[in-house]
Amino acid sequence: MTTNTIAIIGAGQAGASAILELRHHQYTGKIILIGDEAHLPYERPPLSKDVILKPDETKVEILSKQKLQELDVTVILNSKVKKLNREAHSVELESGEHIYYDKLLIATGASPRRLPMIDALGKHVYTLRNLEDAQALIQVLQPNRHVILIGGGVIGLELASSARAKGTKVTLIESGSTLMRRCVPNILSDFLLAQHRQAGVDIRLETQITHSRLEGERVVVQLNHQEELEADAIIYGIGVIPNTRLAFDAGLDIECAIKVNENCQTSDPDIYAAGDVATQLRENGEYLRVETWENANLQAGIFARHVMTIMPPKANPPWFWTDQLNFNIQCAGDMTAKDWKISEMDDLKNTSSFIAYGLKDDIVVAGITVNAAKKMRAIKKIITNKQSLASLTETAKS
Ligand code: FAD
Ligand code: NDP
Repeated sequence: MTTNTIAIIGAGQAGASAILELRHHQYTGKIILIGDEAHLPYERPPLSKDVILKPDETKVEILSKQKLQELDVTVILNSKVKKLNREAHSVELESGEHIYYDKLLIATGASPRRLPMIDALGKHVYTLRNLEDAQALIQVLQPNRHVILIGGGVIGLELASSARAKGTKVTLIESGSTLMRRCVPNILSDFLLAQHRQAGVDIRLETQITHSRLEGERVVVQLNHQEELEADAIIYGIGVIPNTRLAFDAGLDIECAIKVNENCQTSDPDIYAAGDVATQLRENGEYLRVETWENANLQAGIFARHVMTIMPPKANPPWFWTDQLNFNIQCAGDMTAKDWKISEMDDLKNTSSFIAYGLKDDIVVAGITVNAAKKMRAIKKIITNKQSLASLTETAKS
């Protein structure tokens, strides 16, 4: 089939990136971008950081109105797609309008997991996923106020960092025994724990909230060991749930997320999925979902090239970054590696910069840089080339 019209559901990172890739590779057909937010595509990474700390100076837009015009994209905002009709090759908007496609990209992202007990408080409860959420937090994170952050993942820790920078008192409650445990090894979790505590974040591990109530303008929570905490607001980030509803209702293969093959194709070859909503078949035969900025861009590129029958982009080790306190942290490769070796410094509590290598049978399979971003490119190469740690030491000596 000739691809005359590509429709993209979701005007976020993957959706925007798909447009840029398609036009970059000289796709000349029609592109229709449908988003349920009021905004043109924007980046989420600054939402927990610069949007809160430097709201006046921070730009988040990925594609301006003018750029979208230049790229000849039909943009439909404030419109939720409510149904896919695979047979008719169309999507139905909440307005009842039908949009027809030859190929469709689902890039609907994910939504914060909810805590009904906390949501029930109504007032003074916040989560963070979109621009409005971040703008609301600018007022919440003020000097001398006290917030309870639930979840010691990336959202919790980046917000703890922004809160401390603004002089807000923070208590962070994490149910697990380590921080950021979904995506980093213990060596980095322990470092972050020490640094955040030093910065004044009151971190409670292996702790959960059992009861919560409002007392006037204050929120009060009871912890599993009976202690009560009182604060001005609760912000929680306890993970996300992929927005799979459309795909599920349309009968596409789902396993917590939309299953896609190596080309980002779903079980319907004319429908693709990319970004937080997709779980992709990997070389080892397993499916993996990755919630990062880079993955959204990468999968959008895979989709665009497959539609245009161009070779896929070269595979690189997965990579993401997080900015917390005064640390720029970058992680590449397999973060589940069990054996980690620190290079350059020994005492993690007293250092502001180090590199760690994750090993499997002495082969470097992962790397972490803390305030050493310039080293990351070399580390990715080392991982790709499957070099041993011994060979690195030899190179350094010679
Ligand atoms: P999104 O960017 O979420 O876009 C999905 C879009 O689809 C949304 O606009 C959504 O409203 C829309 N949509 C959903 N359903 C429908 C529908 N039915 N109809 C129409 N539109 C719909 N990653 C990093 O690597 N480093 C970072 O520092 C980092 N910081 C982050 C900070 C925050 C606060 C957040 C929330 C995320 C951060 N991430 C970071 C993760 C990264 O931003 C995401 O992985 C990335 O945005 C995923 O892109 P996506 O296109 O899949 O989803
Ligand atoms: P994460 O999955 O990273 O972390 C959530 C944490 O909350 C986990 O440690 C989880 O523990 C814990 N938790 C779950 N339930 C409870 C509970 N009831 N009480 C206390 N702790 C609990 O999710 P986030 O919400 O932090 O991040 C959401 C999304 O935002 C992700 O897609 C993430 O990639 C993205 N993001 C990425 C950033 C980056 O890459 N720099 C920055 C900010 C956001 P357990 O594991 O036991 O469930």
